[in-house]
Amino acid sequence: MKDPTLTTHAALVALLLRHRRCFLALCCLVVVCFSMLPVFAQAPDKSISGQPSVEPINTPGSLLTPIYKSKSDPSFWFASPLVVNAFGHKPSYIGGTASNTLFGFISDPNNPTSTSTISDSAAITDISIVSVTTEMPTLDVPPASPVKPDKPARIPVLNYHSITVDPGNPATITPEKFAAQMQYLSEKGYNPLTLKQFSDMIEGIDKGPDNPILLTFDDGYADNYEHAMPILKKLGFHATLFMSPGMVEDGYFLNWDQVKEMHEAGWDIQPHGMTHPHLPTISAKNQAFEITEARFQIEQMLGTVADIYCYPYGEWDTSTLRILKEHNFRYAFTIEQGMTTPSQDRLKLKRIFVNGEESIEKWRYRFEK
Ligand SMILES: [Zn+2]
Repeated sequence: MKDPTLTTHAALVALLLRHRRCFLALCCLVVVCFSMLPVFAQAPDKSISGQPSVEPINTPGSLLTPIYKSKSDPSFWFASPLVVNAFGHKPSYIGGTASNTLFGFISDPNNPTSTSTISDSAAITDISIVSVTTEMPTLDVPPASPVKPDKPARIPVLNYHSITVDPGNPATITPEKFAAQMQYLSEKGYNPLTLKQFSDMIEGIDKGPDNPILLTFDDGYADNYEHAMPILKKLGFHATLFMSPGMVEDGYFLNWDQVKEMHEAGWDIQPHGMTHPHLPTISAKNQAFEITEARFQIEQMLGTVADIYCYPYGEWDTSTLRILKEHNFRYAFTIEQGMTTPSQDRLKLKRIFVNGEESIEKWRYRFEK
């Protein structure tokens, strides 16, 4: 589309050429020169034609790519003219001063301070102009999520312990019943998540698979290796193990070789305290050791990041929370019952206890109701 200003200039130049001997023509020339002055004066680094002076910057995953940033003025950015032209605004460019944030466009490329505000920075394909301002916006708008889930995640996090035969102990489940539960999940199309997938869903970064579920195993019983790992491996299921590295020498619990093999089979390994203590009953100093040493040993042995905690016995106090925050733990799981959602405190995530005494129907009712 043509710029009306340039059309006017062209007409004036044509007039000038036809009557170049006239005094009037000279006047026209003067008028043209003066009217073009702002154009020449506005060929700054910020100019959209100044490609060499700009560089692509990361975008918040929007359709408006690439977005360019001025080298001379890092606070200034604008988007690809090609995309912006799709909005039907002749020569106008999306731009702003809050990096990575889409909130306006420059309605006149010769006047970068002439902007309009866009109603929804995320809905680029459905953009609408709601107001016109004369100043560059300075809003500190947070970057949009790359993908916005249709609705907030609601993830069942199942809490297993020992896979063994121990009648009367609801914290254990027989290998047969465990196998039947996993078979049920497989047939119903459940997708057991990695912690990365879980985290992306909780943070709204990714929608995640359909029918998500997180399988967690507390304490690190050796029978997890013997009974749970082969079944999950066969079904292609991921799982998370919360272990206490201070107990690896006890034959009742997993040893490091087993833990490493489980990790290689797709299990995320995370800390559950060094010795599975009742945290609120010990000093803050000892709590810090229990939490950070368990993390350190797992990270050292596996070369991973073990920043997701699980409270032994589900117990914590204010010191526990402070320590977890100080050491940048991202999540902590409780034994409070319920589905896990993004609205929960990241250090008080709920789970669903698996009572090995219950029937499959009762078990599945807990996360399918
Ligand atoms: Zn435990």
